[in-house]
Amino acid sequence: TRVKESVLVADGLSKSFAGVKAVTNMSFEAPTGRVTGLIGPNGAGKSTLVNLITRQYHADGGQTRLSDHDLSTVSREDIARAGISRSFQNLRLFQGLTVYENVIVSALAAGHTRRRAAEVALRELQAFDLGAWAATPAQSLPYGARKRLEVARALAQEPVILLLDEPAAGMNPSETDDLADRLVKIRDERGLGILLIDHDLRFVNRLSSWTVVMHRGTLIAQGTPEDVRANPAVIEAYIGR
Ligand code: ADP
Ligand code: MG
Repeated sequence: TRVKESVLVADGLSKSFAGVKAVTNMSFEAPTGRVTGLIGPNGAGKSTLVNLITRQYHADGGQTRLSDHDLSTVSREDIARAGISRSFQNLRLFQGLTVYENVIVSALAAGHTRRRAAEVALRELQAFDLGAWAATPAQSLPYGARKRLEVARALAQEPVILLLDEPAAGMNPSETDDLADRLVKIRDERGLGILLIDHDLRFVNRLSSWTVVMHRGTLIAQGTPEDVRANPAVIEAYIGR
């Protein structure tokens, strides 16, 4: 099932923590049907931006929309029902629950019926090669499988837009390639939009056709991965002058 065309729009989002400007007047768009890379040095404000979109944090200013639907006042609990799901930079699994239960709980939280949740859970366990672990407590999984489970849980909510905050962090190169293969397939088959944050630019560039670059809370560049890679402001931000 392919999702309807839609676009996530962040419009002038800002957030400070006790005077520290984490995100300042940040605007970008992430449409369905493509992967949008969100990159920038450590502390650039990428995770905070995701937390503003999903209403983990309340923005000091600005607006988030999914096409014409204003998400700025939707509760954190209702964000998934509105079509936006996310994975966390630090794993947020229910460690004592099995792999299958972790995925089911996530699908139910997005408002799926028990029957639909069970269907979707099986699909995601297959898509992320977690079937053999279905009855295993999440805490007993090897690290790479736990990271895949985190993504499977987000996808079980059947989002229009999926926000992935460093899904390959801590993975070895072959695990990272494997995750990229799985996400390419999902991108091409399901038509959802993905906002992909990762430090591994090879990983991000393999998946994304548009890259948004943040530095010190602001947008410093956006364009094709090739254009962004050659952009002097981006190179300087990464060299850290
Ligand atoms: P990134 O994900 O790009 O590495 P973050 O969004 O995590 O960046 O952080 C951006 C800035 O906001 C950093 O200076 C960070 O220390 C600060 N920050 C993020 N979350 C909080 C918080 N909950 N409380 C205080 N400061 C925070
Ligand atoms: Mg982060």
